[in-house]
Amino acid sequence: MREAAVSDVDVFVRRESQVRSYCRSFPAVFRSARGAVLIAEDGSEYLDFLCVAGAANYGHNDPVLKDAVLRYLAEDGVLASLDLHTVAKRAFLEAFERLILKPRGLPHRVQFTGPTGTNAVEAALKAARKATGRSTILAFTNGYHGMSLGALAATGNAQARRGAGVPLAHTVFARFDGYGEGDSLALLERQLDDPSGGIDLPAAAIVETVQGEGGCNAASWRWLERLAYLLHTRGILLIIDDVQAGCGRTGTFFSFERAGIAPDLIVLSKSIGGLGLPMSLLLLRPELDLWQPGEHNGTFRGNNLAFVAARAAIERYWTDGAFAQGVQARGDIIRARIERMAARHRGLSYTGRGLLAGLRCSDPARAEAISRLAYRRRLIIERCGPHDEVVKTMPPLNIPIEQLHEGLDRLERTVDETMP
Ligand code: PMP
Repeated sequence: MREAAVSDVDVFVRRESQVRSYCRSFPAVFRSARGAVLIAEDGSEYLDFLCVAGAANYGHNDPVLKDAVLRYLAEDGVLASLDLHTVAKRAFLEAFERLILKPRGLPHRVQFTGPTGTNAVEAALKAARKATGRSTILAFTNGYHGMSLGALAATGNAQARRGAGVPLAHTVFARFDGYGEGDSLALLERQLDDPSGGIDLPAAAIVETVQGEGGCNAASWRWLERLAYLLHTRGILLIIDDVQAGCGRTGTFFSFERAGIAPDLIVLSKSIGGLGLPMSLLLLRPELDLWQPGEHNGTFRGNNLAFVAARAAIERYWTDGAFAQGVQARGDIIRARIERMAARHRGLSYTGRGLLAGLRCSDPARAEAISRLAYRRRLIIERCGPHDEVVKTMPPLNIPIEQLHEGLDRLERTVDETMP
């Protein structure tokens, strides 16, 4: 096997902050990308099962999306616009309403927040607090919601929390589905209803249907349904953080569709910008849209290239159910192949849903070895989970089936190679 080429990374090491992380695992210097393939400056091609952590769901440089953006650039379209009305923003909103919100019966308003997922999460927490007049947020074990202080307070991971440098307050944690023994919701219900349960009535609960960073942990539909009911009956708002699991990743546009629940607030980011262009949204039930003008402001709420690409993506992929079916079919392939690997090796199992799935290793060192050796086979595949013990398979949602199998072949060979 040829080693990954050694590139000139001096300036990154010399000048870029120690905070850099992904590039330590995958140190190639990338030049271009198309579909599921990232191409390094030495010409070597890597299969991308990381996909910008879910911001490249439609693959890199999708030609239809890219053409829309290039045409817009050629016409001197407005690029940045705060929250001014623009033609591009109108076209996006109309398409989003027609193809995404209306068919799913969602009456929600659309708030354009700052372009990061964490900023949209902050907006959701603030909106929930404002609407209820309460401060406590209920979060879940292994949840991940971003790096700014409000979102971080609702994030479980100790290393991420340590970075805050101040106490992370106004959050209580409950057990996610499958965390520990017994019925996690029965305990939560008892605590909420017990005058001595120790939980101030929360403004909202924030939850991922499949915990992306937390280990590809999928909540069951029944658990989500029970959670939604429990919250609703106590006047606690439900925020679904669909930053990673949304935009089709788990097999439907929103990850909660098959749970039959109606979230009060929905956070979307990552692939909503189509081509990996920064854009985030908070969807609010109309009665929760209580902002004063400018109360959650931000310069970069008007990324018109993202509006153009987002509209093109929605019109290309979400006019009927075919794309979602393709995602589900690919998810089934991943599941079958990972289960086959797990059947041959002790200490491995499948986890996740759709294309937000992975290979859980009882020994985190094995997951580390798999990711490292897979990179030598030109497969970019990251880890997640509290001990980085899950090898996370996150290919583009439209990856050609043959390429998906090629990536899984590389993964399987690597798994065999790491047999203890
Ligand atoms: N919520 C979830 C579920 C996420 O996975 C992430 C990012 N991985 C975020 C929020 C934060 O998004 P960003 O990194 O764009 O701030």
